[in-house]
Amino acid sequence: MTETHKQSIIVIGAGFIGLTAALTLLRDGHRVAIVDRAPPLDGSDYRHACSYGNACTIAPHGVVPVATPGVAWRVPGMLANPLGPLAIDWKYLPRLAPWLLGFLSASRTGRVERIAATLSTLLKQADAAWRPLMEEAGAMDLREEHGCLYLYKSNADRAASDRDADFRSRHGVNLARLSADDIRALEPNLPANYAGGVLFKDAYVVASPEQLARRLAKAVLARGGRFITGDVRGLRIDAESATAVLADETLGADRIVVAAGAWSKSLGASIGDHIRLDTERGYHVLFPQGRGLLRRPVCYTEHGFYMTPMADGLRAAGTVELAGLAPPLNERRTSVIRNAVAKLLPAAGTGTSEWLGLRPSMPDSLPVIGKSPRTERVIYAFGHGHLGLTLAGVTGALLSDLISDRATHLDVTALRPIRRL
Ligand SMILES: Cc1cc2nc3c(=O)[nH]c(=O)nc-3n(C[C@H](O)[C@H](O)[C@H](O)COP(=O)(O)OP(=O)(O)OC[C@H]3O[C@@H](n4cnc5c(N)ncnc54)[C@H](O)[C@@H]3O)c2cc1C
Repeated sequence: MTETHKQSIIVIGAGFIGLTAALTLLRDGHRVAIVDRAPPLDGSDYRHACSYGNACTIAPHGVVPVATPGVAWRVPGMLANPLGPLAIDWKYLPRLAPWLLGFLSASRTGRVERIAATLSTLLKQADAAWRPLMEEAGAMDLREEHGCLYLYKSNADRAASDRDADFRSRHGVNLARLSADDIRALEPNLPANYAGGVLFKDAYVVASPEQLARRLAKAVLARGGRFITGDVRGLRIDAESATAVLADETLGADRIVVAAGAWSKSLGASIGDHIRLDTERGYHVLFPQGRGLLRRPVCYTEHGFYMTPMADGLRAAGTVELAGLAPPLNERRTSVIRNAVAKLLPAAGTGTSEWLGLRPSMPDSLPVIGKSPRTERVIYAFGHGHLGLTLAGVTGALLSDLISDRATHLDVTALRPIRRL
């Protein structure tokens, strides 16, 4: 790259998307500064970021969007049961309505097929795109490569599991259907609450997402990237540059990458891009005594959360609550997870800490990766929903194409910021 092609870039957000973006752009030779309210540097708390507390799973099997055919019939139940695996807070419904309409529209069979095809294209590149970044960050030791298990409890659920597996196979997922005996051999400590299941063979665990983020941040620093601690209030664009407006300073650059996760919407709106982003709130409970009980993430799909073996113990993480950014952690929802783990894996003991995370989510379960329709100087990268850890590497690679103004190596038409929803 010649000097003239090197650009100054501000990345807003130091979650996995901002960190992989920054590291990829530094590798391309650009000058990069990351602004975050609390970046994952020594001595700082990182629990606010969704990247901190997820289910630790690189999930190439995640081709199924959240909205699937028939979901409309479940909406009354989601409103009626605030503790269900997918719940809507009725108080938030008026503000959620545009997003919910997009969600219902995305659940039609034809749309679901197209969304899955797009996800499949991205997911197939997920590991190859992560690998060089994890290597550079010295994080390869965090990978635990034993796949991921989805289980069903009784033979009555088998047909639904088969349909799900057929759909995923058709979209390129590498899986094996398992009998109860197969599962017992794989997970001997798991009480036999299952009749069968599916192993997603290419999935793997990152034993500590927090460590991965902190090591990526160190790799960014080692490449000459800078971190600025601050709260970006809005963006400004002019012919010469893009500007991030903070409380008491402004930061100018050739380009700005908005990777502020669930908080990205207002930044786009500040330059007139109204993107239909909302948040699918998710929870985790940590069971330190559960360390070593499982070899791989186990999910009973009806409960909507994973039980993942990770560095700190067993993390039970997942569920979806549509209630916006503001409400605090709802302990009644974490109690549901605690009670379910007590039944599914009693040896995990007592959950010690709990966490609420804000997934940045679009109604169609596809991320936003693309330039603002108003200006080439602002590029959006958020909305990765349930797959932000998995898709961070491939998002970085796509940003590298977009910032270099070359054709992207994957088709990103379906990911454009303003799209039919
Ligand atoms: C319970 C749960 C389980 C999950 N499990 C998985 C999984 O197993 N696999 C998977 O792939 N994904 C999973 N996810 C999803 C994944 O964690 C997210 O998609 C991902 O972390 C989003 O990353 P991000 O960088 O977009 O956002 P974040 O990690 O939230 O980072 C955004 C950053 O932007 C900063 N920021 C925001 N606004 C501003 C501002 N105005 N100024 C300055 N800084 C700002 C914030 O401080 C934050 O650090 C899970 C999520 C949840 C909640």
